Amino acid sequence: MYVDDNCTGCGICVGSCPMEAIALVEVKAVIDKEMCIECTACAYDCPFEAIHEDD
Ligand code: SF4
Ligand code: SF4
Repeated sequence: MYVDDNCTGCGICVGSCPMEAIALVEVKAVIDKEMCIECTACAYDCPFEAIHEDD
């Protein structure tokens, strides 16, 4: 998963992640790829469609 420039830093995705793999770093969401299980919950919950699956 990756976060694009549409991220506003709202923080909603942080609470969506069951693995606690997302942190806000300087008003942008950052996903820890080691912890992420690719469940896509964060992408579904992001109101700005800023999170995407890796190609
Ligand atoms: S929910 Fe979307 S806009 Fe909000 S912090 Fe997460 S990635 Fe950024
Ligand atoms: S895909 Fe799932 S595990 Fe990975 S960061 Fe998003 S909510 Fe967390």
